Amino acid sequence: MTHPMDTPQDEAGALQAFREEVRAFIQANLPLELRERVERGWGFLSKEDYVFWQKRLQARGWGAPGWPLEHGGTGWTAAQRQVYEDESALACCPRTQPQNVKMIGPILCAYGSEHQRRRFLPGILSGDEWWCQGYSEPGAGSDLASLRTRAVLASDDAGEHYRVSGQKMWTSLAHWADWMFCLVRTDTGGRPQEGITFLLIDMKSPGVTVRPVITLDGAHHTNEVFLDGVRVPVKMRIGEEGRGWTYSKALLAHERAGIAELGRSRERLGRLKRLAIDPAVNGGHLAGDAVFKAKVTALEIEIMAAEASTLRLM
Ligand SMILES: Cc1cc2nc3c(=O)[nH]c(=O)nc-3n(C[C@H](O)[C@H](O)[C@H](O)COP(=O)(O)OP(=O)(O)OC[C@H]3O[C@@H](n4cnc5c(N)ncnc54)[C@H](O)[C@@H]3O)c2cc1C
Repeated sequence: MTHPMDTPQDEAGALQAFREEVRAFIQANLPLELRERVERGWGFLSKEDYVFWQKRLQARGWGAPGWPLEHGGTGWTAAQRQVYEDESALACCPRTQPQNVKMIGPILCAYGSEHQRRRFLPGILSGDEWWCQGYSEPGAGSDLASLRTRAVLASDDAGEHYRVSGQKMWTSLAHWADWMFCLVRTDTGGRPQEGITFLLIDMKSPGVTVRPVITLDGAHHTNEVFLDGVRVPVKMRIGEEGRGWTYSKALLAHERAGIAELGRSRERLGRLKRLAIDPAVNGGHLAGDAVFKAKVTALEIEIMAAEASTLRLM
């Protein structure tokens, strides 16, 4: 017996129907004023805008498309997820904050304890609790395994905990975050990768200081985070002590998969082309300029190459 989705035509038709469903949802839910600000640039958005959109998505059951169904995922295929990402970007929706839904969410689903999942997954889905990524340090970027932020196991009347001291660097949106998922060193012997542990740190803990790093575009997006004897209960450790490198790599696989932001790149290129024919911009003559056209074509090729890589990965 033939299944209704057996032929490529059926599959393409179902995907097109899904695309229409996503477009209709966006049309009905994204206020024009918010759409216009996204089109102008991320810098025109506040935390409240992102939370607003996350709540709209979650109300539709689309708060975390990549998660397993039992934890609140959508059960979409890879192709559906790509369609959803593309349509959301092309329609200028606020982007889903990667640190929350795309990075720590899947790690909690895969490696978190029952307590951690119950405590954190609902807040991520609703957009009410925000996370930041405490990986990089002043001396640990590309060579992440050389990180030196130290965590020492201790115990007192209130229970077993780590005392964490060190500095994180480039921590995106730490000033909006309630929690930080953080790589710390618990062992200095052996291979550097083996002494790393993955902790969940409450940003309101005494000893946490966040200082802005203003980037070249004049925006406050990233930060330095200083940790001075911060107390972290052992139950806020992901998995086993010393296995943080394994969990951190799994998380980076989720980060890499979406980092190309193809839909957004296409949307930006489309905007550039519209500006080029706008009479208010250089009399609209830019579109006929040979050098400009060559640059736009080169960008288009780069996006196509990134798309090929992304689809291969998916
Ligand atoms: C806007 C922004 C936001 C960020 N947000 C976060 C965040 O939220 N959380 C977080 O943890 N990190 C964040 N990062 C940090 C980012 O992941 C690091 O910048 C990255 O890990 C690279 O580290 P680095 O900047 O220290 O560069 P370095 O490691 O010092 O590298 C500098 C240059 O040297 C090259 N290089 C390094 N090692 C080698 C080698 N062995 N051989 C050849 N070339 C080499 C690199 O390719 C690069 O060109 C952010 C960075 C930026 C710019």
